[in-house]
Amino acid sequence: MDIAVIGSNMVDLITYVDSMPKEGETLEASSFEMGCGGKGANQAVAAAKMGSEVLMLSKVGADMFGDNTIANFKKYEIDTTYVEKVNGIASGVAPIFVDHDSNNRILIVKGANQHLLPADIDRAASKIKQCKLMVLQLEISLETVYHAIDFGRQHGIPVVLNPAPATKDLDFKSVCKCDFFIPNESELEILTGMPVTTKEEVREASLFLVKKGVKQVIVTMGRQGVLWASESTVGHVEAHDVGAVDTTGAGDAFIGCFAHEYVQTGNLKESIKQASAYAAWSVTKRGTQTSYPNRLDFMNWKI
Ligand code: ATP
Repeated sequence: MDIAVIGSNMVDLITYVDSMPKEGETLEASSFEMGCGGKGANQAVAAAKMGSEVLMLSKVGADMFGDNTIANFKKYEIDTTYVEKVNGIASGVAPIFVDHDSNNRILIVKGANQHLLPADIDRAASKIKQCKLMVLQLEISLETVYHAIDFGRQHGIPVVLNPAPATKDLDFKSVCKCDFFIPNESELEILTGMPVTTKEEVREASLFLVKKGVKQVIVTMGRQGVLWASESTVGHVEAHDVGAVDTTGAGDAFIGCFAHEYVQTGNLKESIKQASAYAAWSVTKRGTQTSYPNRLDFMNWKI
């Protein structure tokens, strides 16, 4: 096993509307699409598409969305031994409404994701211990995230934490123990309370986290590229100049590819560069997981 992703899955329920119904009104919408998503699942699929062997720890409901999610993981040869069904609880879903101008209104129902508990990590211990890297986000209970970080430390498994969606409740003492802390700009702003409008401000906010004890901060900045900071170095790579069509899930593409590359090479800067290129590819296509290239297509891509 290369990577253990401990995190969420959601089924995106996307309705394309001409206008939103008012209270008590029923309207016809133009079309509907369903897709597999959730930050944990997206990151696992990106790493698997790049060729990593991925172990997924996640919870689904005993419903058709849960079946769908498990089948989707299996399609990408992700180990689903610990993708478990919770009886009597709905799977995580994200009803999304998109209007003519591509404006989104999104609801997140975490559902079964909230039932991924610290004890689930202990039950999967022998499999997780075979992994070379652990990847976490915040769409599951924070207690489970803290427990996973401690588990990683105890067993010498480097931990990547994507602190998304950002919450001020995050306990810094716990998360400082992770090896790679990868927020986007707005998450960095929420977590530090510092401005992040310029590259210099992002650098200052990142170094503030380093002073708090985070070993390696990597900030994804959309079209502004990626900045990284540790006690010894600060670096930046520009984003690739591509015609962006849909940037949804770019952050997850970055993390999945970074995890894959880092496990393969152990080279921080090269892994960031590859992940930035991978995420750039993903913004040139619609959708999330469907916009992530497989290894062969990505290697043959001439940017
Ligand atoms: P999301 O929440 O939609 O998954 P995010 O806000 O977490 O995304 P971003 O920082 O927007 O993540 O994007 C992640 C990475 O993807 C960026 O650091 C960059 O490398 C790449 N990227 C994003 N948008 C663009 C773009 N328009 N052109 C080129 N590369 C991009």
